[in-house]
Amino acid sequence: MFDLDSLVRPNIRAMKPYSSARDEFQGEAHVMLDANENSLGSAGPERFNRYPDPVQRAVKAGLAPLKGVQPEQIFLGNGSDEAIDLLVRLTCTPGQDSILILPPTYGMYEVAAHLNDVRIERLPLTADFQVAPETVAGVVASEAKLVFLCSPNNPTGNLLHAEAIEQILRGFRGLVVVDEAYADFAAAPSWTTRLAEFPNLVVLQTFSKAWGLAGLRLGMAFASPALIGYLNKIKPPYNVSEATQQHALQALRDASRFEAMIQELLQGRTWLAERLPALPSVETVFPSDANFLLVRFRPDATAVYDFLVRRGIIVRNRTTQPGCAGTLRLTVGSPAENEQLLEALREFQG
Ligand SMILES: *Cc1c(COP(=O)(O)O)cnc(C)c1O
Repeated sequence: MFDLDSLVRPNIRAMKPYSSARDEFQGEAHVMLDANENSLGSAGPERFNRYPDPVQRAVKAGLAPLKGVQPEQIFLGNGSDEAIDLLVRLTCTPGQDSILILPPTYGMYEVAAHLNDVRIERLPLTADFQVAPETVAGVVASEAKLVFLCSPNNPTGNLLHAEAIEQILRGFRGLVVVDEAYADFAAAPSWTTRLAEFPNLVVLQTFSKAWGLAGLRLGMAFASPALIGYLNKIKPPYNVSEATQQHALQALRDASRFEAMIQELLQGRTWLAERLPALPSVETVFPSDANFLLVRFRPDATAVYDFLVRRGIIVRNRTTQPGCAGTLRLTVGSPAENEQLLEALREFQG
């Protein structure tokens, strides 16, 4: 049986959260002299003189129907990187506990663990970047407080098989964090559809990729109301700015642009994936459910990388990542950028 309270660090269970002026009074008021704000207004072109809603009610009300969850199942953070850090801090006592990751995967899990003096257990993905049955068994046997499963995975681009994730959800004692930063590009249902079945499930998504709002810094975590309550308890009180909340609301009303951009990026992904294998320097184009392609180059990926840099084209060199020798990660860009990338790669003489 999963017991959330026993996974949460004792000091966090015991602590009283910061109570902001806006938390204490929720009614109608027209003279607000409680928070040492500036009632005269703001420098700059727009008014931001009031502290924002600490629990972002309007954004969550807009997001909940879109995601098929209740507002109480949503946490919003300063990027999903904030949610990653808070999940580690919620469950792992520094110098004592560990997290589990399946390399090659997103680098921020390790950074959050190191920052919090939390040990990292690693169980590698297979050569085709899936979770082997022995690895499922290893996860289930682990004493780690949480496991990060990135699906579609960064930097490899593939979805992890749902059966493996489900076995981990059924057997692992800690939190199972499924990072779906790229889910909007994948032809698979989100794990948010399974939240009612699995109290140990946390799903991460972001406005940074398909929504095109990386500069805004807005990430989402979906989980049980109890777990979301704990994240709200430990987050910085005003972690999502008023400007971000207002802009996110406008973005949510512009879902047609979101859908159109996804379609264009998916076409770009197909366009590149069809053309790259014909290049002599390309050995493998890995299947992708994301807005990027992991590509293995021969004989020397770093020579390709350096050649592209000299052409003013920056991609991500993943050649030192476990299981990723000889690979570069290519983000799908605009149609013009994709053509420039392909043209430059055609001109590369290994
Ligand atoms: C890009 C990315 C994120 C998003 O992080 P933000 O802080 O929301 O910008 C999260 N997880 C993975 C795997 C990513 O690749």
